Amino acid sequence: MINRRQWLYGMGLIAGCGSQVGKATGTAAKNEVPAATKPAPLELSQYEPRSMLHVRESYVERSKFPGIDFHTHISVSTKSEKGVALSPDRQYLGTPQELLAVMDRKNIRAMVNLTGGYEAGLADTVTKYDRAYPGRFYTFTEPSYSRFKEPNYPTLQAQAIERAHRDGARGLKILKTLGLYLRENITSGTLVKIDDARFDPMWDACGQLKIPVAIHISDPVAFFTPTDRFNERYEELNNHPDWSFYGGDFPSNAELIAARDRMIARHPNTQFVTLHVGNFAEDLQNVSENLDRFPNMSVDIAARIGELGRQPVTARKFFDKYQDRILFGTDATPHGDQYPQQVFNDQLYEIYYRFLETNDEYFDYAPAKIPPQGRWRIYGIQLPDTILRKVYFENAARLLRL
Ligand SMILES: [Zn+2]
Repeated sequence: MINRRQWLYGMGLIAGCGSQVGKATGTAAKNEVPAATKPAPLELSQYEPRSMLHVRESYVERSKFPGIDFHTHISVSTKSEKGVALSPDRQYLGTPQELLAVMDRKNIRAMVNLTGGYEAGLADTVTKYDRAYPGRFYTFTEPSYSRFKEPNYPTLQAQAIERAHRDGARGLKILKTLGLYLRENITSGTLVKIDDARFDPMWDACGQLKIPVAIHISDPVAFFTPTDRFNERYEELNNHPDWSFYGGDFPSNAELIAARDRMIARHPNTQFVTLHVGNFAEDLQNVSENLDRFPNMSVDIAARIGELGRQPVTARKFFDKYQDRILFGTDATPHGDQYPQQVFNDQLYEIYYRFLETNDEYFDYAPAKIPPQGRWRIYGIQLPDTILRKVYFENAARLLRL
């Protein structure tokens, strides 16, 4: 990675950088801009341009139809190492009361908490949320990677899914741990592939129990390229260097997607919700080809309206064609203020509603001063009511068998 200062300098963020500056010598010196008035180079992090565009600004306070937020993180593992969650115990990020207040204001009927853990942690989460507030929270289970080294892990993990289902889990969540962090010796050794046969019984168990698998693999494709001046998510990667999967022994984005596709192809009776627009929102052509190929595949839109909204024409066609297989989700994380694109608050939902329901132009995709996932703005796609109903509620309700 190049030095941050070198890069900011190289950006040419020097307001009014004229052709005369620094060019004159000797006798022409009088034509130079006096040193005192020369604009100083501007730090990229300090650049906050204000749009001069005058266009309509809609305020959508509540979704037009009640919604299920299919992708949230209300609880997380209390212990992880090198990207692998190692404890079933949960840390709770928001109380049901504070979540319900926002949900009621924003017309969110239910939140799906994907990171519900397993064993006692899962049962505890289901008791605190799902059972205490029926119909408002649904919890998913996760694999217990800490047992990965046990010789009969494939069977154990399939049985763990059955137990989780009995304990109230409504689906299985796979974090990008599988493919990018889990290794042969759990946190060391070679990376385990997404289509590793040791997980086959787990995928089949979900199919037999008719619970969906919500799977996140890979990341924005820019995270797999160098963090340099050509990277469209330079600032984000510069702020979070550990998010880069460039180099080392990491597979490419294409390899991760290919492994996931081989796995989905082997389990036609299991429903897969490939999160973050199939983890390839930058290439809806790829996502479309996979949706055409796999009838058991759906997508959610969590944390990807920044991508969808910068290609509104293509995105609108995508929603039209796959209206029965796109789920509303935000990746909302209570008190996740350091990641504005997924902080659980009123503003976040209002932005999603504005994107889905209006044809407003050129607005921020996250409640943040500087766009956190790349410096651009988005356009609304104004979906018709029939599609809105499906995306907000019906598609998720069908998969969750509500
Ligand atoms: Zn997530």
